[in-house]
Amino acid sequence: MDNTLLRAIPKVDELLSHPVLRTRCAALPAPVLTEAVRAELDALRMQIRSGAIAAIPDTAALCTRAAERAERMQQPSLRGVINATGVTLHTNLGRACLSARAAEAVAEAARSYSTLEYDLSTGARGERYSHAAPLLCRLTGAESAMVVNNNAAAVLLILSALTSGGEVVTSRGELVEIGGSFRVPDIMEACGAVLREVGTTNKTHLSDYERAINESTRALMKVHTSNFRILGFTESVSRAELVALAHTHGLPVIEDLGSGCLTSLEPFGIHGEPTVQDSLRAGVDIVSFSGDKLLGGPQAGIILGKKEYIDRLKRHPLTRAMRVDKLTLAALEATLRAYADGTAEREIPTLQMLGLTQNELRGEAEALCALLTARGIDAEVTDEQDPVGGGSVPAQLLPACAVAVRPRSGSVDALEQRLRAYQTPIIVRIAHERVLLGMRTLRREQYDTILKALTETAL
Ligand SMILES: *Cc1c(COP(=O)(O)O)cnc(C)c1O
Repeated sequence: MDNTLLRAIPKVDELLSHPVLRTRCAALPAPVLTEAVRAELDALRMQIRSGAIAAIPDTAALCTRAAERAERMQQPSLRGVINATGVTLHTNLGRACLSARAAEAVAEAARSYSTLEYDLSTGARGERYSHAAPLLCRLTGAESAMVVNNNAAAVLLILSALTSGGEVVTSRGELVEIGGSFRVPDIMEACGAVLREVGTTNKTHLSDYERAINESTRALMKVHTSNFRILGFTESVSRAELVALAHTHGLPVIEDLGSGCLTSLEPFGIHGEPTVQDSLRAGVDIVSFSGDKLLGGPQAGIILGKKEYIDRLKRHPLTRAMRVDKLTLAALEATLRAYADGTAEREIPTLQMLGLTQNELRGEAEALCALLTARGIDAEVTDEQDPVGGGSVPAQLLPACAVAVRPRSGSVDALEQRLRAYQTPIIVRIAHERVLLGMRTLRREQYDTILKALTETAL
């Protein structure tokens, strides 16, 4: 170890008063800058001790490194990104984007006191669950509704309140694992219920359910196979048949609908996705689904169904632990209003994006491509297929368009990394040795940033 080198490390104050830091970091809070300088000098000390460097970099260079570190420290961890993957419900990028109306409702609820649990007509305590529930019932025909943190919580609550200590009959073909280790069999075990699997992976008949019912049975459960599809020789029992069987035994049918859309997706070319109304009309007693998948709202677990069961859920101690917060309720109510007003497809970003045709996307791709090629960037329009994402509608891809960019120098992986590291990070896919900008999830006001980023990184 070289002690002379260690002794030559500049002092913290020397860096802090250096013109490079004084000018570049004038706007940064002093404690942040001091911490960044200390961390930079500590890192230097380690490098010297390990013999990794043999000379001290000049002070201006150290200042630049400290400034970069300080700037990184000031960046929020949860940041906005440009989603150029074409995947509408990208779980890692936050699933649904809220509508402008929902975002404003969130801002208002965040800034001000509200009627969260206050009844204006009586001046007495009100109910948190009273906000989104009437709209949900109106839109779906459900008797009663409540909202919790997310759909995983909803399923946990339903099974805990209605089936604990008993058996739940479920088709083997529906024992799914959703991302993040949410597994139907494990959830049941955690709720103190015993899973009675019936049928086989590809086929389950009504008689399979019927044979499994005994005096310990508490419910029949249907789970939407959100993220996979069994093809070929398959058979499952319809909701109506399942309901008829359950009700002759005095049992409820529970359905985890996964995405749970309120409008048919057939016009978007997405087939076979049941709506919430389909499920309730078939007589399912309790349905749950996510707020931030195909509904296009905030993260939430929405529970709809018969009043007698929802009342039991509301009384369960777990409900308090899964309590939905006011910002979520504000966003959800505003999102649901768009459905009630008949403006959902125009207003809700998720539905807007899913509704874009390949021709519309091609028009946008050509416009963006022209801007890029005018700057000398190697770009062309390609036909692609977009997954919907969010573990919904598996095996169905939407016809789409992208702009494919090839870097003038360096690898395509390096370009992807530079775009990811950009001030406003741009998240792209790579295919056929090119970076793809998927048009479905881009907005026109983002083109300038994309243009600037690619001019700086792809030439
Ligand atoms: C997505 C999904 C869940 C989990 O919903 P979250 O809102 O993410 O908690 C549960 N069940 C199914 C079938 C799903 O698709």
